[in-house]
Amino acid sequence: MIQYGCVPPINKLTMKDCNQCGKCCIKYGGGDLAATKEEIDLWEIFNPEIFKFVKNNEIWFDPTSSSKLKMCPFLEVVPQKNVLDSNMYTCSIYLDRPEDCRHYPSLIAEMIRDECEMIEVIDLENSKKAQIKLDFLMIDSRPPSGS
Ligand code: SF4
Ligand code: SF4
Repeated sequence: MIQYGCVPPINKLTMKDCNQCGKCCIKYGGGDLAATKEEIDLWEIFNPEIFKFVKNNEIWFDPTSSSKLKMCPFLEVVPQKNVLDSNMYTCSIYLDRPEDCRHYPSLIAEMIRDECEMIEVIDLENSKKAQIKLDFLMIDSRPPSGS
């Protein structure tokens, strides 16, 4: 989800850079994210500000009420200069975000379903080729799909 600087400037690839529209984080950040035991253990030691939103090895819970949150607590709106501009979002724990987040987007079908704004019309016409492009663009964040 929300990718900063992970996409190399390869002009021959038509898929767009992530524009931080936030759709993926808004959709999955409330209840459909998981973190590994290893991630949670590391947060407990090094990132108590993240760990306090974990309960019984699940994310994300209100540290005060212990109730499940409907939105990711680390999703923030970027202040816009022009009030007419669409909202842009940022992740306040970007370098320590869960693997689930680092691996998104992983599948073209998922991007289409989620209306991810990285996708181009040409990607819809040849999803196999688009998947190869996507795997290349995400090379620093995750292994290729199907591997
Ligand atoms: S942790 Fe960051 S990348 Fe993951 S859902 Fe929250 S804001 Fe998005
Ligand atoms: S839905 Fe796509 S374009 Fe929007 S923030 Fe997520 S990865 Fe970026």
